[in-house]
Amino acid sequence: MGSLANVDPQLAELIKAEERRQADTVKLIPSENYVSKAVLEATGTVLTNKYSEGYPGKRYYEGQQVIDQIETLAVERAKALFGVNHANVQPYSGSPANLAVYMAFLQPGDTVMGMGLPFGGHLTHGWSVSATGKWFTPVRYGVRRDTGRIDMDEVRELALQHRPKLIFCGGTAIPRIIDFEAFASIAREVGAVLAADIAHIAGLVAGGAHPSPVGHADVISTTTHKTLRGPRGAMLMADSDEHATALNKAVFPGLQGGPHNHTTAAIAVALHEAAQPEFRTYAHQVVANAKALAEELAGRGFDLVSGGTDNHLILIDLTSKGVGGKPAAQALDRAGLETNYNTVPFDPRKPFDPSGIRIGTPSVTSRGMGEAEMRQIGAWMDEVVTALAKGDAEEVIARVHREVSELTSQFPTPGLS
Ligand SMILES: *Cc1c(COP(=O)(O)O)cnc(C)c1O
Repeated sequence: MGSLANVDPQLAELIKAEERRQADTVKLIPSENYVSKAVLEATGTVLTNKYSEGYPGKRYYEGQQVIDQIETLAVERAKALFGVNHANVQPYSGSPANLAVYMAFLQPGDTVMGMGLPFGGHLTHGWSVSATGKWFTPVRYGVRRDTGRIDMDEVRELALQHRPKLIFCGGTAIPRIIDFEAFASIAREVGAVLAADIAHIAGLVAGGAHPSPVGHADVISTTTHKTLRGPRGAMLMADSDEHATALNKAVFPGLQGGPHNHTTAAIAVALHEAAQPEFRTYAHQVVANAKALAEELAGRGFDLVSGGTDNHLILIDLTSKGVGGKPAAQALDRAGLETNYNTVPFDPRKPFDPSGIRIGTPSVTSRGMGEAEMRQIGAWMDEVVTALAKGDAEEVIARVHREVSELTSQFPTPGLS
């Protein structure tokens, strides 16, 4: 058997094409990133050949001499990096990790409170189309219409009224700092388990650029592939032995079989990288870049939800620019600026054709771009969106794409040759 290019040239060519696409675009999707060559290497190893149901020291298959060491290393690194007593690195991804939180602490039909999807929550926080919304009783909080921020008084009132057993904080389109302490005090008052879902901001938390939920949340759930810059995967963390035991049982045997050992190894590598001083610099630069980009956009008349950003993410309501989120995202993509269309709070339009776009700076920061590049990107976005609103964007899209290619050629993509 030969290399991928020999065995399956068709697929090898597709992967090459995706490599080129990722190198040639300014990737502004806030949930994405570029992993390092080291992380990429670890995912492509023989560890994928091994079954390891159970946990280190208590497996259901023999031959775990090496795998036990790898998983223990990942767990110890997670504990050290986030400052928690327990970590489970086996969840296949963020959604199964969150499902494990339900499995650990709730019975079907029990009440869960989370941010509504259209306000920036995640599907797994009890949204109607998700298993979590179908099999449990969801209660949803949102943001204030005037501030675009979570109203902690509303959260408390809803919690007192509905007495949820589980409360989620965190989300997918929240541009502001999450007040973990305030959520914890509400959870304590109503006797709920508080789960902080830091999927988006885990890298900022690890790098000291966002407050940590440790000491406030009972459970911390995170993906490993967003700002944390690891492989696609997830972790569940807790301080108390009781919570940790419940979570471990929920992940295996509650929901999953064998862990993905190649992913576990790559998580360990990413956690090692995130513990280096350069990662703190990276996390703070992600935020500085987002602030610079937000400032440029606001100065050009873009309407930013909550008026700006504290983290890596910017949510833009395009209503004032006279274009919908979907046509704007499509035009920007053709200009080499990759974003995603997104609902904005109180969006009058449909979810598949909403009013906003969502952008973020984790990927461009991983490529070494700084505030000057952010201002340039903001200017390009304005040119494309303004031309689109006038109904004559083709020339502008073509020119911006040429300029974007010039920029991306100066900033190598981590992990790629
Ligand atoms: C991305 C995300 C998830 C789910 O992660 P997947 O790996 O896509 O299943 C869960 N919660 C939040 C807040 C997220 O941003």
